[in-house]
Amino acid sequence: METLELIIDFHKHNPRQGPGSPQSTIRALQFLPQLTPQAKLLDIGCGTGAQTMVLSEQTPAHITAIDNSPEFLELLRQKVMEIGIGSRVDVREMDMEQLDFEPDSLDVIWGEGAIYNIGFSRGLQEWHPLLKEQGYLVVSEISWLTTERPTEVDRYWTEVYPEMGTISQKISQIEEAGYVPLAHFVLPESDWTTHYYHYYETGAAAFLERNDNSQEAWDLMAENRKEIAHFEKYKDYYNYVFYIMQKN
Ligand code: SAM
Repeated sequence: METLELIIDFHKHNPRQGPGSPQSTIRALQFLPQLTPQAKLLDIGCGTGAQTMVLSEQTPAHITAIDNSPEFLELLRQKVMEIGIGSRVDVREMDMEQLDFEPDSLDVIWGEGAIYNIGFSRGLQEWHPLLKEQGYLVVSEISWLTTERPTEVDRYWTEVYPEMGTISQKISQIEEAGYVPLAHFVLPESDWTTHYYHYYETGAAAFLERNDNSQEAWDLMAENRKEIAHFEKYKDYYNYVFYIMQKN
């Protein structure tokens, strides 16, 4: 298997593909007014739909969930069909860089751990016209928690994600892109450990077996363990932050 296929195979069997939790999705939702059944919500980079399912339980809105991974989408489609919400939750393969929606057509755009794929600033700017007047954009984005940090962690994240910034830098970008920042909060540590990294360990044996204990599969496991060790060492310096904003 190619590395990307292996990564998808590893992640699709876990409940979610990035840090987060139902509690954090609900907390972010509480900054928005009650949505009506007419409201149109777009969930960008939905993965296998951890937050899509929470949003569908917590709101009566019509939800379109998009991702560019057909494997992830297939699993979300199955969940949607199993609980019979197919008329309200539309699951579509789409690139977040080429969204196919009319201008001024969406009440809410949601994205957990996904906007970094297009880049924070670019995502804010390109998605802005799709929102209705005073529509809401809610995203979680990896951010620095401090203005100073050890060189090792600084270098690591600047290489992985050149747009890494502090919370105040992100808020300035939000304002520059034509939104009012309404609220933000840092994810609790359990959104990484209990809700995400926990499954790196519990899914390891099955993943290795599915992949015939290949060297590539073992290499990915080693990378995953390094990622967890990095988090343990430097978690005081970075985290995902939910940003809740309104189009102005
Ligand atoms: N929101 C999910 C969650 O929190 O569990 C998934 C987060 S995962 C870190 C990022 C997601 O973005 C993946 O599902 C990936 O397939 C998707 N993605 C990456 N690039 C994309 C693109 N260009 N268009 C649409 N989705 C993309």
